[in-house]
Amino acid sequence: MLIEIADKSGFCFGVERAIELTEQAAEKHGEVYTLGPLIHNETVTDSLEKKGIHIAADIEQAAGKPLVIRSHGVTRKVQEQAEAVCSDCIDATCPFVKKIHKIVSEQPEGAAVIILGDEKHPEVIGIKGHARCRAFVCKDFADIKALFDSGTLSLDKDAALVIQTTFDRGRFLEYSQEIRKHYSRVTIYDTICSATSERQKNAEELAKRAELMIVVGGKHSSNTGKLAEICARHCTTVFVENAAELSKRLVKGLRSDSIIGITAGASTPAYTIREVHRTMDEIIKTNENEELDFASMLEQSFRRVYTNNRVKATVVGINKNEAVVELGTKQTGYIPLDELTNDPNATVADVVSIGDEIDAIVTKVDDSNGVIFLSKKKVDSALGMEKIAASKEANETLEGVVSAAVKGGVIVITNGTRVFIPASQTGVPRSGKLEDLVKKTVQFKVIEINEQRGRVVGSIRQANREVRDAEKAKFWESIEVGQKFEGEVRSIEDYGVFVDIGAVDGLVRTSELTWNRVSHPKDIVSIGDKITVIVKSYDPEKKRVSLSAKDPDENPWTKFVADYAVDDVIKATVVSITEFGAFAQIIPGVDGLIHISQISTERVTNIANVLAVGQEVDVKIIDIDADKNRVSLSMKALMEDAAPAEETDAE
Ligand code: SF4
Repeated sequence: MLIEIADKSGFCFGVERAIELTEQAAEKHGEVYTLGPLIHNETVTDSLEKKGIHIAADIEQAAGKPLVIRSHGVTRKVQEQAEAVCSDCIDATCPFVKKIHKIVSEQPEGAAVIILGDEKHPEVIGIKGHARCRAFVCKDFADIKALFDSGTLSLDKDAALVIQTTFDRGRFLEYSQEIRKHYSRVTIYDTICSATSERQKNAEELAKRAELMIVVGGKHSSNTGKLAEICARHCTTVFVENAAELSKRLVKGLRSDSIIGITAGASTPAYTIREVHRTMDEIIKTNENEELDFASMLEQSFRRVYTNNRVKATVVGINKNEAVVELGTKQTGYIPLDELTNDPNATVADVVSIGDEIDAIVTKVDDSNGVIFLSKKKVDSALGMEKIAASKEANETLEGVVSAAVKGGVIVITNGTRVFIPASQTGVPRSGKLEDLVKKTVQFKVIEINEQRGRVVGSIRQANREVRDAEKAKFWESIEVGQKFEGEVRSIEDYGVFVDIGAVDGLVRTSELTWNRVSHPKDIVSIGDKITVIVKSYDPEKKRVSLSAKDPDENPWTKFVADYAVDDVIKATVVSITEFGAFAQIIPGVDGLIHISQISTERVTNIANVLAVGQEVDVKIIDIDADKNRVSLSMKALMEDAAPAEETDAE
């Protein structure tokens, strides 16, 4: 910050002269009185008091004592009284004021004097007191106009207009134009003191450039008050009487390149201005040091980060295209969506939430704009690569989501890392579509890693194969005879069907498909049929499983054994004929064999000459082998049973 003192400030010629005369008088007389404060500045009057310069409220108080008439001047009458009663009367009236006294006193008795100014100001009171004709004090043009409008003053008579020395020049020029326009008999005397106007001009010029103006002077000094009023139009302005009223508060919030202006009224001594200047200088330096300290402390409290640093960041904001993060730096961190994840389908909110603490890598530090750009996916990818390498080492299966189908395969995202799965390793048949895998969660094995190129190749097929192998191993460990499975017919052969029971395909021989007689498996099942099977036997070495689709609860042998016995004579239907005999169905699922020797009492050489498939015959049960589920039938036994009776009948 720069402190500038206005060129024209402080004691004017008239005040300086008055003080000098007074001090000389005090030196001469030992003490001296001034009629009222020498100047409107308590600091100065206090200082003068110490030099034996006292203030007299009126003439009587200074009777017999040396008295100084101050620069404002007094009425003629007061001056005459002072000269009469005081031991010495030192007239320190400013020559510029004296000049006005002379103007008004020279106006003829029939004329009029208009004094533009403050009727309560001692200078104005003194001027009015020197007029030998009618004198009027007007504060503005409206007051002057009122004098003419009311007939107090006549347009046809001469009048003189004088101005209080400290009156605002701008207003005076404005009023003078109107006066010349309307009141031609008014003679205008420009009695404004140049000291005042110069101070005002200098102060205004400085105030236009300054951010803060300090106006120094007595609180009752009209010219100082006027300076403060002018300065306040352009910048922050404070009105102080001395340096004791200054504080650090004044410079808070000011820019470091601010100009602080100082101006002072005509009654302000140079030493007060110097003291204000010195104090402000100290305040600024202290403030700058404090700000420096604060700035350096603040700077130190901030972390510095550099490109490629790996940092911890807290997510403080989320929008469509990026995550906003706090790093403990003075800059704000941003992670663009494409640096958050490798997954092209993910949104910012899919990846992070406000409050998340994440690891990221600094990709760019832009100090000029106060921003830092980061990448989360680079960290994830590096971490992911480590995890993937460890998984490969441990032969673990990984899981990921297929993000895209690309030329020659698919891309799976796992642990923030892209893994390429060649088409041949996807498990999708040639006739299938790789696109069908997109967005699906898959398990895969890592089959190749190139950390330099950041390339990972995986295989879904290999993972699937391992799953199946594991399932098979578990199957062989747990399989038991009699275990029931829900299976699917995978293929049909002449001798039976292969049924998928999960880990393996088991064989259901034709005879085990149903309790009933069947000539070919395709007569009762089709590929894809779901059937319930029971483990009949298994061979873990040869990986073979024999199954049966026959429900034990429906075993016709149970029914047969309960309902039939040896020597029962029953009807049976021939279902097949062989060289050694004919099979005849007793009940569905139970066939008995009529051996060729049991067909007739006579010798049978060709069964087909005797029996035909579908023929119902009367037979006798001659044997039941429950262990082998075999029933022996005989037609011959019935013939023999009948023979004696016939013989008896013949006899
Ligand atoms: Fe004289 Fe002007 Fe100072 Fe008043 S301001 S005392 S008129 S020099």
